[in-house]
Amino acid sequence: MEACTKVTKEWLNSMEYRELNFAREKLVINPAKACQPLGALLCSLGIEGCLPFVHGSQGCAAYFRSTLSRHFREPVAAVSDSMTEDSAVFGGQSNFIEGLRNAYAVYKPKVISVFTSCMAEVIGDDIKSYLGNAKEQDAIPRDLAVALANTPSFKGSHITGYDSTVKSLIECLAKPRQEDTINDRLYVVPGFDTYPANLREYKRLLKEMNAPFTLLPDHSDVLDAPNLGTYELYPGGTPISEMNEALNAKSYLMLQAYSTSTTSKYLKGKGVPVETIPMPIGLSGTDNFIQAIAKFTGKEVPEEITIERGRAVDAMTDCHQYIHGKKFALFGDPDILIGLVSFLLEMGGEPVHIVCTNSTVPFKKAMEKLLSSSPYGQGATLYPGKDLWHLRSLLVTEPVDMLIGDGHGKYAARDANIPLIRVGIPIYDRVNLHRYPIVGYSGVINLITMIVNTFLDEIDRASTDTYFELMR
Ligand code: SF4
Repeated sequence: MEACTKVTKEWLNSMEYRELNFAREKLVINPAKACQPLGALLCSLGIEGCLPFVHGSQGCAAYFRSTLSRHFREPVAAVSDSMTEDSAVFGGQSNFIEGLRNAYAVYKPKVISVFTSCMAEVIGDDIKSYLGNAKEQDAIPRDLAVALANTPSFKGSHITGYDSTVKSLIECLAKPRQEDTINDRLYVVPGFDTYPANLREYKRLLKEMNAPFTLLPDHSDVLDAPNLGTYELYPGGTPISEMNEALNAKSYLMLQAYSTSTTSKYLKGKGVPVETIPMPIGLSGTDNFIQAIAKFTGKEVPEEITIERGRAVDAMTDCHQYIHGKKFALFGDPDILIGLVSFLLEMGGEPVHIVCTNSTVPFKKAMEKLLSSSPYGQGATLYPGKDLWHLRSLLVTEPVDMLIGDGHGKYAARDANIPLIRVGIPIYDRVNLHRYPIVGYSGVINLITMIVNTFLDEIDRASTDTYFELMR
């Protein structure tokens, strides 16, 4: 039996199995993505006084909440109208109306953000007419803001759901754009970002650049709330007053391209200027961000930021030797992958396998362009639409030095006997990583610290007494 298991394990690591694995068509094994409503929930938590409301099954709501709760180690407030078998047959209207009535009575939100799970979408529930009926029946006040987003999970992913919900909240809360009421603010949309520290870093840099801004949405005080001894149901988020003026923004800056495309299209259709830049990871990514703010304000970049950039460059120079020529595999969402690959290329790291379950044609083109721009990107292959079982085959047949991705990568990393640098979501098995930014010049230093110290730990662990050095 033991011998048989050993043979099977060896075969799983063979090129023959890899070819069979990549020929697989009807089965997905551990895709690197979640479903649309999870992104909708993350977005909804970033608005002041907003109650996320899942129109669908309770089990779905429990999954979204537990994922975010375990990742952030914070309570995550959301309600569900708990559709069951009878709703599947007769429609979910009575659950919807009763759910809204109870949610408003108990939790007194300033706005309710409704989004759907698979069940409601499969039976074709018309949530717009249900909302009209709920107000007709006085289940909720007629002037209560209720945003509606259709987030079917049989297409798209968490980034699509996030995008649709940003749009639905602006649609619901913003006053119409009028040329004589345009404000002076830059509205910054971070995109699907699970680092409260990233959002804080954006705000800090925007303040240092003296830019009047609104971060939309902003979950930093909700998913990294202080423990002051009492529970706050609505501890932060983008102020409603600033949501009301969202269509009167002077302009928008999108910090991710692939999780904001629907919102961008909607805003442009309303005549709002929109600029989109790649997620500000790495030196050039952060430079783009700073330059975009400077272009908006028309002011020089303050000296403090130039000094801060210099520190990041110093850290890159100090540590280049440890990353240069090392081979990496990465997996995750399109925006974070573009940022991480750009950072690795700056450091002379060599991406080899890039797995993106959520890949799109524009993302593939952008990634290929990025890789071709650097000598260190020449050996990389992007695997669009592939999952973590494909990734495992890649790691065991074409070894690399390090894997970068969320906590799900730990199994493949262990099988390939390489370290995993945890970036993204979910990360259930390490603490506080969401409290360290990976964007901005601080993010450059943090990423270098994580990657290089892990390599050095590996060297120490593998060293014999002769090579167990104090200096590395
Ligand atoms: S895929 Fe559909 S059924 Fe499954 S958790 Fe997501 S919304 Fe619910």
